[in-house]
Amino acid sequence: MIRHGWTDKINKNTTLNEFFGKEEFKKNINEIEVKSVLNKAKKRDSWFLLDYSLNPYSGCSFNCLYCYIRGSHYGGDTVQRLQIKSNAAEVLKKQLKRRVKKGEYGIIGIASSTEPYNELEKELKLTRRLLEIIARFKFPVSILTKSTLVLRDMDILKEINENAILPPDLKPRLKGGVIVSFSFSTPDEKLAKIFEPNAPSPKERLETLQKFKKEGFKTGICFMPVLPFLSDSEKHIEKMVVMAKNYGADSILTAGLTLFGDKPNDCKTVYYKAIEKHFPEFLEKTKKLFGEKFHPDPKYQRELKERADRLSEKYDIRNRLI
Ligand code: SF4
Repeated sequence: MIRHGWTDKINKNTTLNEFFGKEEFKKNINEIEVKSVLNKAKKRDSWFLLDYSLNPYSGCSFNCLYCYIRGSHYGGDTVQRLQIKSNAAEVLKKQLKRRVKKGEYGIIGIASSTEPYNELEKELKLTRRLLEIIARFKFPVSILTKSTLVLRDMDILKEINENAILPPDLKPRLKGGVIVSFSFSTPDEKLAKIFEPNAPSPKERLETLQKFKKEGFKTGICFMPVLPFLSDSEKHIEKMVVMAKNYGADSILTAGLTLFGDKPNDCKTVYYKAIEKHFPEFLEKTKKLFGEKFHPDPKYQRELKERADRLSEKYDIRNRLI
């Protein structure tokens, strides 16, 4: 069910213009009601240790050019797809109550498929409300974000970090109930501006990570997607690893780019267009690397992994969360 109630409320609220400032954006905000907001994984995700996933929004205001949530079906702009799950809090309460009765404590991934701290969150505080509920039910969380706004919720995250009930097998391996990770496609400010036009800069993300580290949280960097021929060189990966180490990340997970679709709004098409515009010398190489597939050829992936693993080892930073 899609409604436009928030659009009306936000139209009366002048601050939307202040914080995002696009008429087009306001027109496209949709409110949806969902039956389920907490999804249980069949098996714990081995990379991110997630037992559950929770996405307060769908779509995203950051509009990264490589983002797989864009697509012909939804439009070429992740902002256009931005939807608020307006009944998420009440649904989450019911779902967590049931899980607690069964003793099914596990790490909740926020958010596995969108940005939990997109521009709307500043005003709506939906992610914050969901964290308050999670704190009450004592579930551990793993947050993945590109935003500095996560700092606002440090108070609730501290409570979760101290009180969450960890799944028995993770108890000996995790000190607290919160992991805060930041995602990067590059540590380079200029490149990031091209490919992640609305997201906070890499430096801002690193400084935010550092603040969480100083407060005793487990912190990580997800260097994904690494951009072929742009951020995959030895020098570039080394720069990311060194920055991760210097700013206090406990781990760095590295993975390559995936690109989907061939319609005008699909991320593969949008990404190729950006390469053509900004780095035409890499267009043919990039196309050849992917061919008809959604991932680079296996040799490239193997070499990228070896490079990243070697550099993590050199700088003594884990290439796994635990
Ligand atoms: S921040 Fe994440 S969800 Fe948002 S557009 Fe970028 S890659 Fe997509």
